[in-house]
Amino acid sequence: MARKLIAGNWKMNGQGPQLDFFDDLVNEIAEVDVDILICPPATLIERCARAADSTLIAIGGQDCHVNEKGAHTGDVSAGMLKDAGASFVIVGHSERRADHGETSAIVKAKAEAVLASGLTPVICVGETLAERESGEAERVVVEQMLASLPDEASDRCEIAYEPVWAIGTGKVASTDDILQMHSALNNALPSGVSARLLYGGSVKPDNAAAILSLHHVDGALVGGASLKASDFASIIKNSIR
Ligand code: PEP
Repeated sequence: MARKLIAGNWKMNGQGPQLDFFDDLVNEIAEVDVDILICPPATLIERCARAADSTLIAIGGQDCHVNEKGAHTGDVSAGMLKDAGASFVIVGHSERRADHGETSAIVKAKAEAVLASGLTPVICVGETLAERESGEAERVVVEQMLASLPDEASDRCEIAYEPVWAIGTGKVASTDDILQMHSALNNALPSGVSARLLYGGSVKPDNAAAILSLHHVDGALVGGASLKASDFASIIKNSIR
């Protein structure tokens, strides 16, 4: 069984004072047999990497450009994130797919850029409510995953299944639906790719244990509940029960 990965996505939240988070989190979790990742806004990566130094908490970016450098005002490359202290990068989050028109082809190019920089991509996929209600969820999400995976995908890729309608809404996919989708994704992974399959979408301390004990759920990508160290610590502790 893969070691679980509990990842926090701070989105566009957080400024310097939030760095107490790392002391608070470490105080609550002590030694746990789980991989922990925090993805702060790009402005905080270097400070978070310093705050998390000498802990087991990894730091990641929330997005990157497909190119390594050049005339792309406002963008950040995977190599720059690495330079700032990141070891993972989230790519293809549904908020980026929706707000910035990112297709799976773009997400794949970003994931390849992340791998080329020596970092690990966390590739997000998920269906809309309309796609779920029309019975298309599994086909859409499997296609999205296959179209977003790098050609040279290796065991250095993580996949996050995040139903779009469950993100930030307090609505969680049923355990049956999560189980079914994770089994479908696991079966569809190309041979030679052994990505961990995370679930994301309103994961909270009170539902984490039920979700994280499901077969083929190798971790969680947590938005809102990763902003408070005590909530995030409780999710981490629930992942090892
Ligand atoms: C996310 O941002 O990836 C996410 C899952 O958010 P939340 O946990 O707030 O639904």
